[in-house]
Amino acid sequence: MIFYAFICIYPDFLVTLQRFLCVHIHAYATHMKNYIEKANHIVIFTHVAPDGDAMGSSLALKHWIGKKATVIVPNAFPAFFNWMPGADQILIYEKEAAKCDPLIAEADLFICTDFNDPKRIGPMGEKMLANSCPKILIDHHLNPMDFADEVHSHPEVSSSCEIVYRLLTDEGLQPSVISHQIATCIYTGLMTDTGNFSYNSSAPEIYEIIADLIRAGVHKDEIYNAVFNQYSTDRMRLTGYALYRKMRIFPEYHLALITLSADELDQYHYQPGDCEGLVNMPLQIADVHYSVFMREERAKPGTPKSRIRISFRSQGDRPVNIWANEVFHGGGHANASGGELFGSLNYAVKLFEESYKKYIKK
Ligand code: 5GP
Ligand code: MN
Repeated sequence: MIFYAFICIYPDFLVTLQRFLCVHIHAYATHMKNYIEKANHIVIFTHVAPDGDAMGSSLALKHWIGKKATVIVPNAFPAFFNWMPGADQILIYEKEAAKCDPLIAEADLFICTDFNDPKRIGPMGEKMLANSCPKILIDHHLNPMDFADEVHSHPEVSSSCEIVYRLLTDEGLQPSVISHQIATCIYTGLMTDTGNFSYNSSAPEIYEIIADLIRAGVHKDEIYNAVFNQYSTDRMRLTGYALYRKMRIFPEYHLALITLSADELDQYHYQPGDCEGLVNMPLQIADVHYSVFMREERAKPGTPKSRIRISFRSQGDRPVNIWANEVFHGGGHANASGGELFGSLNYAVKLFEESYKKYIKK
């Protein structure tokens, strides 16, 4: 609240803060380079259900470091990121654990991008912690867990890709290293984590970075097209079904809820990423400022309960991360958070119904 009031009185504060951050990042970029030079087997991790920022920040680092780095993600990324340079070399832990485990055990440096808690990389979290080699964290979520030796945590910036850009272009790392491939990866994360520059994107520096990326060869319209205009017919129809049949509006609370069960998802041949962005859509309704989306994943063989993934979005000074954290074991940014629980979809809806009045500002 004090921070918010301060920004209202002194709107240049964020810009000043960003400039300070550049200096701060400068001081640490050289350390990161030293760690990387000393290492021979580097594993780059990013979070479960990888999004554009997770993909972009990890792949940009991979392109910069080269052969001695391997990107491992906990589970499959959406097919609309298949085109990203280096995506075909990413290892997916859920599918290739036997190949990943020795790499994790024998790594001599870990770089973690776009997550703040080892739990966000699933079972690999414990395995990473069991290896005592140095760990570098590059992230923009609040309150990182204390597990890394070098931490570049900047919740004020748009994306982890922005931090990677700043680290890579820092004076300590000259000559400039932004290749076409790196620029493409970084632009993708900047674009997706800001909803194509519709939120978290008011700092003028972001557009200076974009100008640099375009000079490095980025085709921004092609990237937009590759990520946002690649729906399958099933995905489009699933979106229609969700909005038409499954959206509940709570007008007094400016709130929308969409739920999709595993059976419903099956009907539309659900693929990872098919619900990406769905949670944002109700915010297009005038007077809806909060949106929640719940998706059921069927129980894995040998486990009794299905998993419910919950996404929260809001506009303006209406944080949802405390709600996500206290009721759904999650967290995230003030306007974009997530959580999960193991149980039925009905149970998740019950928790939602019991809690929304407490966490929503009318
Ligand atoms: P999404 O709704 O896209 O899955 O997640 C939005 C944001 O919420 C993510 O960028 C991440 O910051 C946060 N988030 C999502 N799921 C979780 C979770 O299970 N735990 C925590 N701590 N944060 C999450
Ligand atoms: Mn991010």
